Amino acid sequence: MKTGVAILGSTGSIGKSTLRVLARHADRFRVVALTAHNSADELGAQARETGAGFARSVNQSGAECLVEAATHPDAQIVVNAVVGAAGLPATLAALRAGKRVALANKETLVMAGELVMCAAREGQGELIPVDSEHSAVLQCVTGHTRALKRLILTASGGPFRDWPVERLARATVDEALKHPTWRMGRKITVDSATLANKALEVIEAHYLFGLGYESVEVVVHPQSIVHAFVEFADGSVLAQLSFPNMELPILYALTHPERLADTGVTRFDPVAAGPFTFEPVRAADFPALALGVGAGRAGGTAPAVFNAANEVAVQAFLDRRITFGRIPGVIDKALQAHRVESAQSIEAVLEADRWARKRAEAACS
Ligand code: NDP
Ligand code: MG
Repeated sequence: MKTGVAILGSTGSIGKSTLRVLARHADRFRVVALTAHNSADELGAQARETGAGFARSVNQSGAECLVEAATHPDAQIVVNAVVGAAGLPATLAALRAGKRVALANKETLVMAGELVMCAAREGQGELIPVDSEHSAVLQCVTGHTRALKRLILTASGGPFRDWPVERLARATVDEALKHPTWRMGRKITVDSATLANKALEVIEAHYLFGLGYESVEVVVHPQSIVHAFVEFADGSVLAQLSFPNMELPILYALTHPERLADTGVTRFDPVAAGPFTFEPVRAADFPALALGVGAGRAGGTAPAVFNAANEVAVQAFLDRRITFGRIPGVIDKALQAHRVESAQSIEAVLEADRWARKRAEAACS
């Protein structure tokens, strides 16, 4: 019996990578459901190619099609590759239905970490990260989870890693979209340039691996080959290495804890790949990281506010309504004005999300 896979956001960067991985492993998996936002033509072509019986786009079928695909009876695995808060109801529904969720849509876990972990426990669903750093951690800790002490996530540093701070403020959209090591969708590429992405990932790691914020660190590694370090109680440190290509963590999320032979991966050569360098984060020049980690530490609805304000600020920057340098300020204003509430109900999370979007929109005008 082949394992059925639903892909939410199949027309995006991670969605397409997932389809490539599944095409190489068609003996094990079959695509049963696909969704897009606007790209209906491309979605139709993907459905014809894969034979998926369910293919809907949100702009034609409404947002409910995400939940329908996520709970499709023939899907054992749901790859959530939607960008932003829109992916939350589908993640919750899939976990409650007992599916394995291969999660690229990190915003889901940041805005509603407690609810998502609770849905996984209740429905006996499995939450497996696709994000390369978290896949690296999972690969290192599988079999050793109890002795886990500290995580160090790597960050490429983005396109502005060595830019002087004055120049950063005026960085253009085209400059922000030129990521040095990864080819990704526009939103996460801007998040990588501000380091908001790394804040989302610290929060993501906190929920996935159950560590306090003091035990999740970030180091800049411009080559993007070491994806994370994991320190154990005895002081030993493991790391996972691979060339920057999301197909490896996607396949691992489908097969964990097993590994499948894969022809799609470039053979690792340490001499060609090196030298590897590591440097501290320029925290003062990239304030979005500290803002996000601060929101994570504050807990409750604060991470949802951070996420929503960041989504609004990034869109405003992409629309050329605000400068790059204003992104952290917009997030900070929303966080400063927010009164943190408990985030144990979906209503509270969605209300915080709506409130923060309004606040951030006002700060962008
Ligand atoms: P893209 O922008 O390339 O793709 C986003 C996908 O989601 C598209 O299929 C898009 O449809 C769909 N979509 C967008 N908005 C909505 C919405 N409101 N409702 C439903 N569907 C929507 O993004 P990426 O593939 O780069 O990223 C996807 C997620 O994975 C993000 O959360 C990102 O942070 C995460 N991630 C990405 C990595 C990467 O390498 N790209 C690495 C690690 C994590 P349409 O094409 O019709 O617009
Ligand atoms: Mg990542």
